[in-house]
Amino acid sequence: MAIEGTTFTVAGTSDYPVCDCCGKTNLTRAVIVRNECGEEFNVGCICASKVLRQRYQGKKVKLSTAAVISIGKAASASKEWKERNGYGAHSFQLVAA
Ligand SMILES: [Zn+2]
Repeated sequence: MAIEGTTFTVAGTSDYPVCDCCGKTNLTRAVIVRNECGEEFNVGCICASKVLRQRYQGKKVKLSTAAVISIGKAASASKEWKERNGYGAHSFQLVAA
């Protein structure tokens, strides 16, 4: 199954080892993304860096796998942590590549 949608919200990191993007079953690091329809996908950080982009100043910017994971970790953190570290709702918005 490939992931569907155009805009995604990173919901957090995941330990589930199967990638919904490519079907890989030995993932060590993955994130959960939710599309505009509310469907959730478990995506390995390598696939996420390939198929998702961050919007920055009107452009689509490629993410490194490390950036994918740090966004996932931030999404899993508490509201207070996000505020303290300058993460707003927009920080977790990604778009299809
Ligand atoms: Zn994959």
